[in-house]
Amino acid sequence: MSTAIQFDPIRLPSEAEALRKEVRAFLQDEIAAGTFDPNAVAASGFNREFSRKVGAKGWIGLTWPKKFGGQERSFLERYVVTEEFRVANAPVRGHFTADRQSGPTIMKYAQDHIKDDVLPRIIRGECSFCIGMSEPNSGSDLFAASTRATKTDGGWLINGTKIWTSGAHNSDYMIGLFRTSPSTKENRRHGLTQFLVKMGQPGITVNPVVQMTGIHEFNEVVFENLFIADDHVFGEIDMAWKQATSELAYERSGPERFLETFYVLPELVRVLGNKPDTRGAEGIGRLVAQLHTMRRMSVSVNGMLQAGKEPTLQGSLVKNLGTLWEQSLPSKARDLAAFSEADPGNRATFEELLQFATMIAPKLTIQGGTTEVLRGIIARGLDLR
Ligand SMILES: Cc1cc2nc3c(=O)[nH]c(=O)nc-3n(C[C@H](O)[C@H](O)[C@H](O)COP(=O)(O)OP(=O)(O)OC[C@H]3O[C@@H](n4cnc5c(N)ncnc54)[C@H](O)[C@@H]3O)c2cc1C
Repeated sequence: MSTAIQFDPIRLPSEAEALRKEVRAFLQDEIAAGTFDPNAVAASGFNREFSRKVGAKGWIGLTWPKKFGGQERSFLERYVVTEEFRVANAPVRGHFTADRQSGPTIMKYAQDHIKDDVLPRIIRGECSFCIGMSEPNSGSDLFAASTRATKTDGGWLINGTKIWTSGAHNSDYMIGLFRTSPSTKENRRHGLTQFLVKMGQPGITVNPVVQMTGIHEFNEVVFENLFIADDHVFGEIDMAWKQATSELAYERSGPERFLETFYVLPELVRVLGNKPDTRGAEGIGRLVAQLHTMRRMSVSVNGMLQAGKEPTLQGSLVKNLGTLWEQSLPSKARDLAAFSEADPGNRATFEELLQFATMIAPKLTIQGGTTEVLRGIIARGLDLR
C-alpha cells in the first residue's frame, strides 16, 4: 500500500472547543436578534454590519501574525470558527475570502504601505475581496489566462475579461491574475502576474451572472484600459504561478468544502423523528459516520498546516471526498425520507432545503478546483501518473 498520503492523528485542543462555545453563543444571539435566519439558505450571505461584528470579536485574521493585527491563534481554532459559521449559515461573504486567502497573500507579497492600509480594514470586517482568476477560456487551466497587463508610465493598463468572479459586485478589491508576458517553451506557466485591483473605478464593468436558483453570486468582470499603479503588483512580475497555486491551497482545506449542503442533515433527522425505520436509521448512521471521518481528515489537514507542513495532497483528497458527500446528500436524504409519515406541514422546510440543495449541487464539483482536476493531483501524488 502506498504511504504517500498520511493524515496526522490530530484532535481539536481544549482552547478550540472553548472558542466554539463563544462562537455558538454569539451566533445564537445574532439569530435571536434577527440578523440572519439559518434556514434562509438562498440569502445573499453578504452583510457588512455582521462582518464588522465578527471583526470586533477578533475572529477575522485569527491566525495572522500580531504585527499585522492578527491574534496568532492556531489553524485549529480558525477551523472551529469556520465550522460554526458554516453550520449556522451565517452571512460571512463580506469577510470570508479576505480572511481565508486574500489577507495571507497580501501579507506575503504586498508592499508595506499596502499591508498597513488594507490588513487592518480586513481584520475589522470592513474590506471585502474577490478572486480574479478564471476567464472565458481559462478555468481549470489557470495558466492559459489571457487578460493583459501592458506596461505604461508608472503602472499597467489592464484589458480583458474575468468570469465566475464570486462577490465582485460587493467587493472593495480583487486580487487579479493577468498576463504580463507570453508563456515560454520551457515553462507554459510563465508570464502571469498578480495585481491588487481597487474595484468600482472607471475601466471596470461588473456584469451579473445569475444562477438558476435566482441568486446573483458571481459575475463577469470586464477591464478596459484600467490603470493600476506599479506599487499594486504582488510579488515577482511574470512569476505569479507559484503565488496563485499556494493561494489555492488555502482555498481547499477548510470545513466549508464539505458543509455547503449540511443544513439538509439536521432537517432529515427532524423529519424522520425519534423512531426512524431501520432504513432511515441506517442511512443517517452512514451519513454521520462519513461526515465524522471527513471532519477528522479536515481537522488533520488544519493541524498539519499549523505544524508548518504542506498538506496539498491531503487537502485535495478532503475537498474531493467532501464534494461527493455534500453533493449526494440531497438525493440520499430524499430517498431516506420518501416513506416517512410526517405530515406535509412538518416537511415544508425540509422540502424547501432539499430543493435548493439539489439546484446548487452541480456547482460544488466545480468551485475551488474540479473533481477531475483534484483527482489528477491526487494521482500524481501517488505516482500513478
Ligand atoms: C460557485 C462557483 C464560484 C466560483 N468562483 C470563482 C471566483 O471567485 N473566481 C474565479 O476566478 N473563479 C471562480 N469560479 C470558477 C472555477 O474556479 C472554474 O469554473 C473552474 O476552475 C473550472 O473552469 P471552467 O468552468 O472553465 O471549466 P473547464 O476547466 O473547461 O473544465 C470543464 C470540464 O473538463 C474537466 N477538465 C478540465 N481540465 C482537466 C484535466 N486536466 N483533467 C481532467 N479533466 C479536466 C473539468 O473537470 C470539467 O469537468 C467559480 C466557480 C463556481 C462554480
